[in-house]
Amino acid sequence: MTPEDKLRAHDVEFEKRIYPLAPDVYLAVGYAASNVGLIIGTDGLIIVDTTESTAAAEQILAGFREITDKPVRTIIYTHSHRDHISGATVFAEGAEVEIIAHPEFESDLVGAETRPGPNKILLQRTARQFGIGLEAGTERINLGLGPGDRPMKGMGQGFLPPTRAVTEDGQVLDRCGTRLRFHFAPGECADTIAVELPAKGLLFSGDNFYASFPNLYAIRGTPYRDFTTWADSLAKLAALKPTVLAPGHTRPILGAAEIQTALADYEAAIRSVIEQTAAGMNAGLTPDALVQTVALPEPLRAKPYLQEYYGTVAWAVRAYFAGTLGWFDGDPATLFSLPPAEEADRLAALAGGPSALDAAATRAFEAGDLIWTLKLCAAVLRLDLPEAQAGATRIAALRALARQQENACARNYLLHCAKQAEKA
Ligand SMILES: [Zn+2]
Repeated sequence: MTPEDKLRAHDVEFEKRIYPLAPDVYLAVGYAASNVGLIIGTDGLIIVDTTESTAAAEQILAGFREITDKPVRTIIYTHSHRDHISGATVFAEGAEVEIIAHPEFESDLVGAETRPGPNKILLQRTARQFGIGLEAGTERINLGLGPGDRPMKGMGQGFLPPTRAVTEDGQVLDRCGTRLRFHFAPGECADTIAVELPAKGLLFSGDNFYASFPNLYAIRGTPYRDFTTWADSLAKLAALKPTVLAPGHTRPILGAAEIQTALADYEAAIRSVIEQTAAGMNAGLTPDALVQTVALPEPLRAKPYLQEYYGTVAWAVRAYFAGTLGWFDGDPATLFSLPPAEEADRLAALAGGPSALDAAATRAFEAGDLIWTLKLCAAVLRLDLPEAQAGATRIAALRALARQQENACARNYLLHCAKQAEKA
C-alpha cells in the first residue's frame, strides 16, 4: 500500500454520518474537521462542541432535526480550539442558550485582529497544514483527523462566548433531566473539559484522543503541549471506565475493553516518547539525531489509532526537546550562525560555484534524494543565479516528497508550498 493509499483508507474514520451512541445520545462525524455531540433531554437538547463553520453546523443541525425537534438549551465547549466553537450561533437558533466551558477558556477568535504576535504567519502556516486551496480528493486527501472535503463557509464565524464556567474538577450539573459530570483534562489544549454521562457510561473526551498518533506538536505552530499532563489526563479518563468514547475527531469507540486498551495505548505512546527522548537528550543527542532513533515500540506501532496521520513521533520528539530545554540543541556549532545568504555563498564555493550547486540539486532530485534536494535548492535560491533550475527542482521535490507522506499535515504543507511557489 502506498502512503497515499494508506491515508485514503483512513477516510473511514470520518465517513459522514450520525452515530447513535446510546439511547438519546448521538455523534455527528465527517461533516467537518471535528465532531458534534447531541444529548436529547426531557425538555431540550445539549450540544457538545459546535464544529468549525456555520455551514457545517447547519448541515449537522439539519441531521439532528431529523431525530428531534426539541430546542437547544445548553452548549458545551470541550476546549477552545476554533474547530470546536465556531458553529454555536447555528445551534443556538437565535435563543439565549447556556454555554459551558473550562474556567480558563480563552479563544483566539476573540480580539484576533488586535492581538500582538505572529498572527499572519500562523494563519499562513495553518492554511498550509490543512491544505486550504488544494484540490479536495486528489491533492488534499484528508486532514488526518477530518475529511478532505467539507464546507468552508462561515469558518470561525459562529462563536458565542461561554456563559458558565465549570467551577471545579468533577463538577456535576443536571441539564434537561440529564446528569453531566465535567472533568478537567488538559491535553492538546490546556482548557479541555471531558464530559461524562455517568448514567450511560459515556464520555466525550475532547481532543485528548482521536484515531491518529496525538498531535503533540502542530506544524502550523503551537506552544509546547505538556506531554506528561496529556498522558496523565488519559489515565484519568480511563479510570472513569467509559463504555462509549466520543472523541472530538474521528469515529466513536464502543465497548469498555476496547476503550481501556485504546486509552492505555495512547497514554503509553506518549510516555514512551517522553522516556526515549529524555534518555537520548541525557546522552547528549540533538533533535536531528533523536528523530532518527525514537520510535514507538512494536505493539504500539501497529495500533490503528497510533498511525501518524495527524501527529508524528518525530515532531513530538522535537517538541519535547524544545518544550523542556528550549531552542538550543546543545551543540556549540548551533549557538551562532551565519546569515543564510552567506552560508549559501560558501556552500556554492565548496560545490565549485553557483551553477555546480544548482546542478547538484538537480542530480539529488534525479536520485530521489528529496530532503537533500530541498536543502540544496534553498541554498541556490539565496544566490543571485537567474538561470538556476533550483526553483523548478524544488517544486518537483516538494510534490514528490508529499506523495511519500502518510501524514496529512506534512502532505498538505508540502503541496501547499509547491503551489505557492508555482504562482510566485
Ligand atoms: Zn480539534
